[in-house]
Amino acid sequence: MEIINRCLSIEEFRQYVKEYYFGSEPANKLVIHHTWKPTTDSWDGERSIQGLKNYYEKKGWPAGPHLFIAEEGIWLFSPMRKDGIHTAGLNHCSIGIEVVGDYDNEVWSGNTKTNALGAIKILMDRLNLTFKDIYFHRDVSSKTCPGLAITKEWLFSELSNLYISKPEFKQVIRNTTAPPPADFSQSDEMVLIPVPDWAKDAVDFVAKNKLFKIRVAEDVRHAVRFYRFYNLLKEEQKKQ
Ligand SMILES: [Zn+2]
Repeated sequence: MEIINRCLSIEEFRQYVKEYYFGSEPANKLVIHHTWKPTTDSWDGERSIQGLKNYYEKKGWPAGPHLFIAEEGIWLFSPMRKDGIHTAGLNHCSIGIEVVGDYDNEVWSGNTKTNALGAIKILMDRLNLTFKDIYFHRDVSSKTCPGLAITKEWLFSELSNLYISKPEFKQVIRNTTAPPPADFSQSDEMVLIPVPDWAKDAVDFVAKNKLFKIRVAEDVRHAVRFYRFYNLLKEEQKKQ
């Protein structure tokens, strides 16, 4: 079995996917899994990847899933332009994404969560997929995969709160409790970030009140504007 065996950061994965040739019949759906075992504790990076390769080869499979998502990054396994083997009935034209760990009792967390959401979002954008194109293994199997704690409601809400923005904002969001500086700048390169804590209230507020249209791929600049606007409103309310 040929595997790619490379571990990429979200930014490297975004660049990889941007330039990647997805074949004459590109994937039109994603299927989400969890490894269950290895667990996050027993996962050991490249050694685990080699172990999985051996495991699939013993089963006589010519391919496996396409991606393994771990704390250290996004592992490229089987090539995404070819059908993998991960979900009986859904292997054709799908990308199989394994999130390392057991998620029957808890949702994704830490870098694993950021890497999983980022990889899904980047592939959705590149392949023009919508939420209806995201499948769970358990949709077509008696398994609980990708874990009972992971629901589509939760996943789609998390994906909707993921914004694509500029590298400068990495600085701004690193401190999740401090407000953004008044003179933040912009550049052309985009990175993936979640909505920072300081902007969540404001973004929720304007979304609920339909004051602005918030799109999935919107720039987090809006969050900064929302934040300022929201604070202005709050100050006005105090005065009254
Ligand atoms: Zn599965």
